[in-house]
Amino acid sequence: MIKKLALSIVILTSSLLASNEVNVYSSRHYDTDKELFKTFEKKSGIKVKVIQAKDDALIKRMESEGANSPADVFITVDAARIERATQKGLFQAIESKLLTNVVPEKLRDKNNQWFAITKRARIVAIKKGSSALETLETYEQLSDPKYKGQIMVRSSSNVYNQSLMAGMIAHHGIEYATSWAKGVVANMARDPKGSDRDQAKAVAAGIGSIAIMNTYYVGKLATSNESDKEVVSKVKVFFPKFENGGTHINISAAGVAKHAKNKENAIKFIEFLVSKEAQEVFANGNFEYPVIKNAKISPLVSSWGELKEDNVSINDLGKYNKDAVKALDIAGWK
Ligand code: FE
Repeated sequence: MIKKLALSIVILTSSLLASNEVNVYSSRHYDTDKELFKTFEKKSGIKVKVIQAKDDALIKRMESEGANSPADVFITVDAARIERATQKGLFQAIESKLLTNVVPEKLRDKNNQWFAITKRARIVAIKKGSSALETLETYEQLSDPKYKGQIMVRSSSNVYNQSLMAGMIAHHGIEYATSWAKGVVANMARDPKGSDRDQAKAVAAGIGSIAIMNTYYVGKLATSNESDKEVVSKVKVFFPKFENGGTHINISAAGVAKHAKNKENAIKFIEFLVSKEAQEVFANGNFEYPVIKNAKISPLVSSWGELKEDNVSINDLGKYNKDAVKALDIAGWK
C-alpha cells in the first residue's frame, strides 16, 4: 500500500514537473535571450531549459530525435533555415490569436507553424566622404560599374547573402538576379571573406568604401571596444531599397516543435517573446527591430534613419533559397 502510494506520488510529481517546463532549442546566442528566458520563468513559473547550438546542427538533431525529441520550441535565424525546418516537418501549426494578431502576415508562416520574433535589415555601411553616399540608392545599383573596387561582403555560403539574393530573385527573376550578382562580384574590393563586422572594419581600413552587412552588427560594434567604436565613427549606415520595394529584412523565428510534450507552455513562451517588454529587450540589447507595432526601436538604431521594409514575404525568401544558391554560384560569388 505504502509502496503503491509512493509510486503514485512519484508519477504525479514527475508529470507535474513535465508540465511545468518548456524545452527550447535555439540557435540564437545572445545575452538578451538569456535575460528574457529568466524573466519568462519568473512571470510564468515555467522552467525554461535551453539547448543552444548552430542552426543546422539543431535541425539535424531534431530530425534524428524524431518523436523522442524533447524540443518544445525551436528558435532559428534566417528565412532559408526556417523554410528548411518547415519542409522537414519540425514545426507544428498552432492556434494563437495573440500571435496572429501582433505578428504581421509577411513575418509568419502561412500555416502558423512559425512566427518572427525579431527583424534585422541588410544594409550598407558607407565610408564617410565617399561619393557613394550621394549616388547609391538601390541594391540594384550595387552592380553598377561605377562602384568597381568598392564593395565588400562576406561569402555566398552565408545565408544572409542567400536571402538577399532570394529577395532580388523575388523582385526581378533569376536571370536578372544572376547578372546583378555578376556585377556585384566585378565590383568587389576583394574576394569575400570574414563576418559582417569584418566588412565594416575593412571599410574603416580603406580597403573599399561599401560594406554589405546586417544592422545589428553596426550596433554591436558601436557598443564594443574603442577600436570597434572608431570603425563605426568612420562609416554611415545607409538603407538601400529594391527599385520596386524597400530594404531587405530577415528574421529570427520561433515555432512549436512537431513533437512538443509541453505545447501549451511552448505557445505561452512564444507569446511572451512578442510581448512589448520582450521586444524592447531584443531592440535595446541586441539592436534588432521589433516585429510588433507598439514596441520601441533602440535610439541608436533609429539614429541611422527610417527603415522602409521590403514587401517580399519571408515565405518567399525561403522558397527562392535554392535558386539563390545556384545563381550566386553561377555568378562566381565565392
Ligand atoms: Fe548574425
